[in-house]
Amino acid sequence: MSPARRARASGRRRDAAPAAREILGWEDDPLSGALPIRLPAPSMPPAKLRLAIVAKAPPLALHEPGTPGFRYWTAIESITRGISLWAPRMGERGWAATERLRIHLDRGRDLNAYYDRESLSFFHEEVAGTMIYSGESPDVVTHELGHAILDAIRPELWDVMSTEAAAFHESFGDLSAILAALEIPSVRSAVLEATGGKLFRSSRLSRLAESLGWAIRQSRPELVAEDCLRNAVNAFFYRPPGELPPSGPDATLSREPHSFSRVFTAGAFEALALAVAGAAKKPAERHLVEAARDLSTLLVEAVVRARIVPGYFAEIATRMLDADRDQLGARNAEALRTAFLRRGILSLDSTAAPPKPKAAGVRSRSSSGEAEGAGRAPRGRPAPGPRTQSPVALPLVAFEGASLGLGRRRLLLRIPVAPDAETPRGAAYRGGSVALVDPHDDARAFLEVLLRRGRIDLGAERGRLPASGVRPARRTHTLSRERGRLVVTRRFFDCGFDAP
Ligand SMILES: [Zn+2]
Repeated sequence: MSPARRARASGRRRDAAPAAREILGWEDDPLSGALPIRLPAPSMPPAKLRLAIVAKAPPLALHEPGTPGFRYWTAIESITRGISLWAPRMGERGWAATERLRIHLDRGRDLNAYYDRESLSFFHEEVAGTMIYSGESPDVVTHELGHAILDAIRPELWDVMSTEAAAFHESFGDLSAILAALEIPSVRSAVLEATGGKLFRSSRLSRLAESLGWAIRQSRPELVAEDCLRNAVNAFFYRPPGELPPSGPDATLSREPHSFSRVFTAGAFEALALAVAGAAKKPAERHLVEAARDLSTLLVEAVVRARIVPGYFAEIATRMLDADRDQLGARNAEALRTAFLRRGILSLDSTAAPPKPKAAGVRSRSSSGEAEGAGRAPRGRPAPGPRTQSPVALPLVAFEGASLGLGRRRLLLRIPVAPDAETPRGAAYRGGSVALVDPHDDARAFLEVLLRRGRIDLGAERGRLPASGVRPARRTHTLSRERGRLVVTRRFFDCGFDAP
């Protein structure tokens, strides 16, 4: 059914007088197969995570689907629901680079949504006679919010030139959408019924952004899943991103961050499913609530603890196991280990390592010591000491431009820290663990993809560099001069349709 027909059909649901403090909104996506439901009116975010909505608020009421009032309130409800999910796990952290995160519900025509540290931005586009508003999909909204939340917890991930770090940002966004959907009782009951309690089955919960997927499918069906944008239930097995092509169809894994993110998303989603299955023979809603809250706690804890190394998926997976042991009595250990082993995010060697004593693990942000990696040669052995610090000064390293189509200039890139003998690793196709990746190689591979896709705004250097010959696309990064040096920095996380 097209979105337009779905919206018309869903209008039948408006059958009762408006109740105070309720809105009509989508649970996960306009095309997930469910009708709009009544939801509690959006709650005020905590002071540390304030919002500024760039639109006049329509009256709080049960607005008809397809109207601006409906779109406004379903978007704001999903943002505040997502904030309520993450805020209790974030300590005193606020937004990474602003006091108030601006919310642009409709910035014009595009099949897109992005997070740029100042705002979350959404768009509209007419596709096959149907208007698609990216901000109308709670899946899309809570994905974008996930970028902002992760940026608040670990701002160093913003600029680091690393495929797995960028892919993890996308995965965190998709997991944010899944976990925010599970905050709604009717989603929990519907998913339990549809899957028989076996959550690692394709369902409206695992299918992300059905409406954006539908819109892209009308012109480029090979770029999206057959029934959504991305599906958290998939069969991809980990592979070092340097061995993958820079882009590819949806059916294959590439090192394009959205594509590669699907490996980690499926691992975490399968761990959630196994935790639910392990909790009861016939899982009930409360088991789903507990497993989802554990997963969100473990994700945040792992992000705080993890070193930003090239093999970031294995590092995060291991820190989730550590956090589960330290804070949750290892009640998710079997589920996490099974899921991460099954898709190669961890090798058998890496999970066989004896658990480290607690003292080597958690340190709160306020008690953190010296920044990890700061002042250390990126190729050198890591300095001994705490492994779990935030914030981290990642090495800023010069690259020769000649081999990158950038002439005789040197570019400065922020690269991951060097792995060491204790760094956990993913599984190799031929058995054992993958080789450790040099942070320079990781950064260079990431930069090459940006250049090949015209993603870097060359600014004043445009026209002077051979790479200027690439037609510019959405420029997620920029080349700026800082004290006479050319530095590549990120502008935004782009989550839309970027094919010509
Ligand atoms: Zn994204």
